[in-house]
Amino acid sequence: MNASVNPDMFYPGQDVVDQANVSEYEKMYQYSVENREEFWAEQADTLGWYKKWDSVLDESNAPFYKWFDGAEINIVHNAIDRHLENANRNKMAIIWEGENGQKRNFSYNGLNREVCQFANVLKSMGVEKGDIVTIYMPQIPELVFAMLACAKIGAVHSVVYGGFSTEALASRIDDAHSRVLITADGGWRRGKQIDLKSIANEAMQRSPSIEVCICVKNNELDVEMEPTRDFWLHDLKALPIAGSKCETEQTSSEDPLFILYTSGTTGTPKGMLHTHGGYAVYTSTTHRMAFDIKPQDRWWCAADPGWITGHSYIVYGPLINGATIMLYEGAPNYPYPNRWWQIIENYGINILYTSPTAIRGLMRFGERWPKKHDLSSLRLLGSVGEPINPEAWKWYHHVIGNDKCPIIDTWWQTETGGFMICPLPITPLKPGSATKPFFGNEMAIVDDDGNEVGTNEEGKLIVKNPWPGMARTVFKDDQRYADLYWSQDKDGKWIYLAGDSAKKDEDDYIWVIGRMDEVLKVSGYRLGTSEVESALVSHPMVTEAAAVGLPHELKGNAIHTYVILQAGIVGDKKLEQELRAHVGSEMGKIAMPECVEFVESLPKTRSGKIMRRVLKARALGQDEGDLSTLEE
Ligand code: ATP
Ligand code: MG
Repeated sequence: MNASVNPDMFYPGQDVVDQANVSEYEKMYQYSVENREEFWAEQADTLGWYKKWDSVLDESNAPFYKWFDGAEINIVHNAIDRHLENANRNKMAIIWEGENGQKRNFSYNGLNREVCQFANVLKSMGVEKGDIVTIYMPQIPELVFAMLACAKIGAVHSVVYGGFSTEALASRIDDAHSRVLITADGGWRRGKQIDLKSIANEAMQRSPSIEVCICVKNNELDVEMEPTRDFWLHDLKALPIAGSKCETEQTSSEDPLFILYTSGTTGTPKGMLHTHGGYAVYTSTTHRMAFDIKPQDRWWCAADPGWITGHSYIVYGPLINGATIMLYEGAPNYPYPNRWWQIIENYGINILYTSPTAIRGLMRFGERWPKKHDLSSLRLLGSVGEPINPEAWKWYHHVIGNDKCPIIDTWWQTETGGFMICPLPITPLKPGSATKPFFGNEMAIVDDDGNEVGTNEEGKLIVKNPWPGMARTVFKDDQRYADLYWSQDKDGKWIYLAGDSAKKDEDDYIWVIGRMDEVLKVSGYRLGTSEVESALVSHPMVTEAAAVGLPHELKGNAIHTYVILQAGIVGDKKLEQELRAHVGSEMGKIAMPECVEFVESLPKTRSGKIMRRVLKARALGQDEGDLSTLEE
């Protein structure tokens, strides 16, 4: 620990520090940015390659970078095959619990059998290397098998979140021209059956490219199957074609692995394309270092595999690292708000990784629910998706982590493939800051002219270098990729524009404070949405808040806020005044909202992010834009 102790910081306990996979940050960071290619080559050396690379980084066609070009690898060779040769063979790979309490477990050996069979089924349906298979499934083990089966044979998966409607599914199938769709009869959510197959049927009607639909029987829903197109997976698995052995295809490092769409928080989702080699290196390295994964750990990333967090940190990163993964299909508060805490106790989960929205949602029900459970198995906690409000951070740290679990707040995007800014378990923490760049990454905060802003000044968050986990393009739209994310600085160097606004404080800690185009400009001042929202959430009666700027004659913009109160509290005029004054005293008068509206829910994406653009459009009576990823 540092000699000088900063009272604003939360320091990790000595036991956490003593066993950390990475015991020192500064020197290693310096090395990693000065010797970027060596650093990544060293990490890549921990993986299995059929053939090593000709170059670590190929910049000849920037910003279309190539990593480990010339190498042959398959991410599944690393996520499964290699484990069959060592002690992981009989280790638990996946522990699954359904909402109704069903349980299924798979060892690495069992996972391999399932994936091989699935891969053989896909091959028998004519799926070949490079084909894009669309997957639309509930959060069941077969979703993971399907993804891995595609990757194993060199096909590309496009996972569409199981909560999306016909329109979102149909447009993604069209975009990918998929011939094959993998789905299930249905899923569970809050005790209700979700009829996935009939949504899929409608989507297939609209998207004529689908010739084969493979359907998993999950909850015995009576569904319509079209005889020449639709097949039950269990029927196919019973055929001789579905043997339990299947050779893993050797793919090139730069061969596509998957397409995945962004959450759609700021507009129409973008289909990002990721590849086998660099993505395998990046997800496994970030997961191993930031979450300190140990052989005996039980890892629970409570996201859906259908968004990037699930792809990188439920499926690929953890499996490459040989971890035991928890999967749960269902709502966090079903049948009661202790469901997650019960899972942690029952399975002895060591690391929990979730989103601020889930934390705030569970916080709303109070401490008494987690207090019923023994959560002492937890060693580390994680957060992703939005800036975490300091109030929620402290609750998570104190009530769930018993003041002993560092919170690994990870800033990253669908585009980045893995963590870009995050602490290590040894990093002193400040609630609400994702702390410092991950190894190899040089980040800066700049103004409109590309000049670095001063300490604690707000600006655009940029990355000054390529990294292995970066998306290679926007699917079918290279131009959009180049235009949207990349520009050249005065020296001709390529710069990645994240689209978020941020600040760097006097300790060089980075604070992401919102979307660039959502910065609240009030009377010449620039405020981040998250700063105003966190001030509201710090009031004891508030659990969630959203802030938007609406045009105002005098101020340029006026701050309008929407607030969800603690369960059981009713908002009135007096409380509105109190909350306005509270923000004023927390942040200064300039940030005082024009109004506070009490609401029961906020428009969010399926990945749990507040869609401020929808609130704004509603308030202004304008068109709400692309709502395909809106949660009902
Ligand atoms: P779209 O790009 O379609 O608008 P999206 O940006 O929400 O959607 P994602 O790729 O799922 O799609 O989310 C990435 C964004 O999430 C980041 O750009 C950032 O705004 C936010 N984010 C993620 N993690 C964090 C974090 N730890 N702290 C602050 N913000 C975060
Ligand atoms: Mg985005």
